Amino acid sequence: MTDWIKEVEPLTQKGQISVPYSWWAGETAGRFLESLRDERKILGTRCGSCGKVYVPARKSCSRCFVDITEWVEIGGEGVIEAFTVVRYAHPVQPVQAPFAYALIRLDGADVGFLHLIKKDLEKIGVGKRVKAVFREERTAHILDIDSFEFV
Ligand SMILES: [Zn+2]
Repeated sequence: MTDWIKEVEPLTQKGQISVPYSWWAGETAGRFLESLRDERKILGTRCGSCGKVYVPARKSCSRCFVDITEWVEIGGEGVIEAFTVVRYAHPVQPVQAPFAYALIRLDGADVGFLHLIKKDLEKIGVGKRVKAVFREERTAHILDIDSFEFV
């Protein structure tokens, strides 16, 4: 082993890199995302054991630990369960601030769906009804739903 390293004072600097990557969405998330792109429909999956409806669709139930095979169409409206308003700019944010991350319980679903609210932030509140607004150009991405707006 060399001894030179013992005489070198370590110098570290903080940095940040951008690492482009691709990932395979998988069968379940793939179908969910393709439905957003091709049909402007939000799909969920229903557990055959407990009946819980997941949105986004899941392949297995986190309560029962069984595979889920039943697909259900979920309407594009729901109720805000929780939210946080973002008022600062950061490079990793999906949209320009100000905007809100909102946990939305879509009608027919049993879990919250995390998405964005970009307009009328002064109206935001738990229990407020919102509806999905789809983008014209869609790419099988969660942001094919541009955001949610107040009903
Ligand atoms: Zn279940």
